[in-house]
Parts: sequence; structure tokens; C-alpha cells
Amino acid sequence: MLKSFEDALAIVREKLTAHESPPPQEVIPCREAAGRILSEDVGADRDIPPFNRATRDGYAVHSGDLKAAESTLECIGEARAGKPFQGALEPGQCVEIMTGAPVPTGADAVVMIEETEADGRRVKFHRRVVAGENIVACGSEARRGERILRRGQRLGSSELGLLASVGYTRVSVFRRPLVAIISTGDEVVATDRQPEWFQIRESNAALLAAEVQSAGGLPRDLGIAPDEKSVLRSMMEQGFQSDMVVLSGGVSAGKYDLVKDVVAEFGAEFFFDSVAIRPGKPLVFGRAQGKFFFGLPGNPVSTFVTFRLFVRPALQALAGGPFESPVWLRARLARELRQKEGLTRFIPAQVEMRGREAVAEPVPWRGSGDLAGLALANGFVVCYPEQTELSVGSWVNVLKK
Ligand code: AMP
Ligand code: MG
Repeated sequence: MLKSFEDALAIVREKLTAHESPPPQEVIPCREAAGRILSEDVGADRDIPPFNRATRDGYAVHSGDLKAAESTLECIGEARAGKPFQGALEPGQCVEIMTGAPVPTGADAVVMIEETEADGRRVKFHRRVVAGENIVACGSEARRGERILRRGQRLGSSELGLLASVGYTRVSVFRRPLVAIISTGDEVVATDRQPEWFQIRESNAALLAAEVQSAGGLPRDLGIAPDEKSVLRSMMEQGFQSDMVVLSGGVSAGKYDLVKDVVAEFGAEFFFDSVAIRPGKPLVFGRAQGKFFFGLPGNPVSTFVTFRLFVRPALQALAGGPFESPVWLRARLARELRQKEGLTRFIPAQVEMRGREAVAEPVPWRGSGDLAGLALANGFVVCYPEQTELSVGSWVNVLKK
């Protein structure tokens, strides 16, 4: 069941988008809603903008008065943001106006202050003007009642700003899915324990908890299962009480890689159990007890990469949001790269802007166990299966870390 990267991602997308039941909802303060998924459509409570708004400091005029190359008008008052001009313009008149102020009745354009010359109440204009200049018309951004945000959208800063602009202080969002995290391995010991020389401190659960949180889930760390079926079984039983299960380690072909055998006992369907990527080849995706599970390879960099590529979009979709495939940047390669044919590779790199171009410099690292190497990187260069040699300066795709 070896799948290409693209096919594997398409399978995850298909399974998650066919998954029909949306999560339950809750109403929370908008100030706590960053990153959450909206569970209701939101409409404008009034026209946006609510009046014809000036976008420049200058003079509000009637464009019909300014059809000659030069004209002079009489200034009859001032319109400020928050302090509208009371009254209306007659022909031959103008009103001094500030950015953000309502355009007075009788005016249909704003001329920038820089294009005028004032002498007492007489204001000289040096050019022709068309109706609508420097004005955002009432209701042109949205009409009252028009939908401005959709159910299923993730609330980032701009969406929260938009919610505030239509008077929301509380908002209805989907509950975060509970994600069980299970680490496996006889050699793995809890972070707060002093390991023996042959033991490894648990680090994947810490990494995964942070990833789950930032992808919109609630992590539930179930601890470390030894490479032994009965304990793994009882931890998985607990895991399937959550909305999704993410395991790390124990999915390769070794004699003590027991994760697949044990999930199979729960009646699992396996959608794939290896992907032509490095790191991360033994990745497993399936469903058991009505819950999706991912078995991530235990090497920390593999855990990270497979989470970002596959689990993160899946979790966001399960949380009621859109399935967003990873998005690549384009960068020029700062060093030559060679690799064997057949795998899509993700190579830790430092990406930065040099002039107008992004440049990716692979960091020194010792393979998929090297978390310290990963910490030096802020992205991954993507090498496709047929790209066995990439020269300096070639354009490559980059996954941001
Ligand atoms: P596995 O996928 O079980 O074959 O593990 C691959 C490598 O990752 C081994 O060197 C493990 O010691 C290491 N590893 C597995 N799980 C963890 C974990 N939770 N934290 C740190 N390292 C791990
Ligand atoms: Mg193991």
C-alpha cells in the first residue's frame, strides 16, 4: 500500500471531507476565539461603510462644479471623522473634509488637499474631477444583512476584526476535537525521569501536544506504551474515547512494531500504511471504532513532518474547518542537493529573503532523529521523486515550519 505523497494526501482529504457530522458548538468571547472555527454564518448588521466615506484629507465637492482645468469654490465648513458637516452643498460650494468623515449631501467627490490652494474661504482647484473620486460608497463593502463570514472559517486576526466591526463580542464556534496522543517504545521514558544510558527521553508527545493545539485540537497525552500488546491495547481503548488518535513510534517493520497489529484488533480500516516520503515513510492512516487514527513514525523529525503534512489538515477539517493542504513557498536553493530517486523528500532548511528572492539553505542535520538540527531550520525544501540532482540557484518548493 505504498502511496505517493500526493495520493496519500488526496486520501486523507477524501476521508475527512466525506466525514459528515460537524462537531458540537459553543459560544465564547471573541477575545478568546483566535484560531477557532466559526460555526455560524455572520451577516453585516448595517451597510459597510455606513455612509459615503472620504478616503483622503481635502475638499468635498460636486464634480459638476469642476469640469474646467481650473475652478474656484467657496468653502462653507468642515466635515471631520466623527463630526459630520450639518447641511448640504449648493453649486459653487465645497466643504473641507478629513479622512474617515462622511461626505456631505450635495458632494460626490473628494479632492486631495495637495491638489488645491486655499485663500481664506476661496479654494482653487487645478484639475477636473470625476464623481466618486476618493470616496468609498455607503454599502459598497457589504450591504446590511449580507453574509461577511461563513460557517467553517478559521478566526484569524482579520476575521476577529471584522466580527468586532459588526458588533460581536461573543461568537459561536465548534468545540475543539479531543486528540489522544500515545507514545510507544520500550526505550522511551517520561521527560521528568533520569534515563538509563540505553533509554531515550520522551519528546514526541511534547511536540505533538503543541502541534495539536495550534491545529485547533485539544491534546490529551495518554503517556508511553511499552512495545507490548496488552498495555498498548488498553491505552488505545482509552484513545478511541477521544475524537482522533495520534500514535508515535511502532509503525515500521520491526519485530516489536506492534501498533498496526493492535489497531487491527479494534477492527481498523487502513487507508494507507506507507507513503513515498522521507522522513516519514511508514506513516499509517486509518479508522477504527468510528475514529480516525494516525500512526506516525517515532523519529522526532518524521513525527513533525508527517503531522504537518497530513494530520494538521485532517484535524482542522475534523474541527469543522476547511481541509487545507500544505502550501509551498518558492525559493532558490543555496546549495546543491543530490538524492536517490523515488521519494518526495523534506529537507530541513533555513529560508530567508535576499533582495527580492527567498533563498533556502539546507541546515546540517543527521537524519530524521535529529531534533537539534530541526531546531535550526525554519522550513523544508521539497525534493520530488524524479529530482535526483538539484543545482545551486534552482527554484524549489519550500514548506514553512
Ligand atoms: P520507531 O518508529 O518506534 O521505530 O522509533 C524510531 C526512533 O524514534 C527510535 O530511535 C526511537 O527511540 C525514537 N522515538 C520513538 N518514540 C519516541 C518518542 N516518543 N520520543 C523520542 N523519541 C522517540
Ligand atoms: Mg519503537
